[in-house]
Amino acid sequence: MTLLPLLPIFHRLNREHFAETLVIASKPLVALRWSDGRLRKTAGFYRRGPKVLGKTKREIVLSKPLLRLLPTNAVESTLCHEMIHAWVDIVLGIEEGHGPNFLRRMHEINSSQNEFTVSVRHRFPVPKEAPKWLAVCRSCGFRVHYRRRVPGIACRRCCEEYHEGCWNSNFLLEYQLVVSEI
Ligand SMILES: [Zn+2]
Ligand SMILES: [Zn+2]
Repeated sequence: MTLLPLLPIFHRLNREHFAETLVIASKPLVALRWSDGRLRKTAGFYRRGPKVLGKTKREIVLSKPLLRLLPTNAVESTLCHEMIHAWVDIVLGIEEGHGPNFLRRMHEINSSQNEFTVSVRHRFPVPKEAPKWLAVCRSCGFRVHYRRRVPGIACRRCCEEYHEGCWNSNFLLEYQLVVSEI
């Protein structure tokens, strides 16, 4: 599944809701990118980096694992949320988090259209992480997925069959790392 290109959405939102203030000579004042697969706890963030050669780097990062499976309006709503942070920072020059300027702009945008809703907290479902380990019984071929390695687990089926249900080290499960397909 391909990721939505962010730049066209950024330009449209900038035109419709920020009076073109987040662009100079058609160049965004904030960099945009999709995260790698690890940003799972938050749908996106805006950050202002340190000054390098007199220039402050600003960027918006959207969560690939959280948003890639959701409809376009989830991307729009998240990007717009982060653009409000950028607008408060760059245009107003105020540091306030989800303060009064942020909230006023958010409500204005929400009441001006029906395509998406910006909220203070992103409320998207967090997908379950893929199980990381595959435990295998060498004796009978039994396989089961585990989130983490639990040492000392033996195959129940083999222990019951050969050792009257008592744990036996001959049937310890062997762990194999599963390479995530996400
Ligand atoms: Zn925020
Ligand atoms: Zn077994």
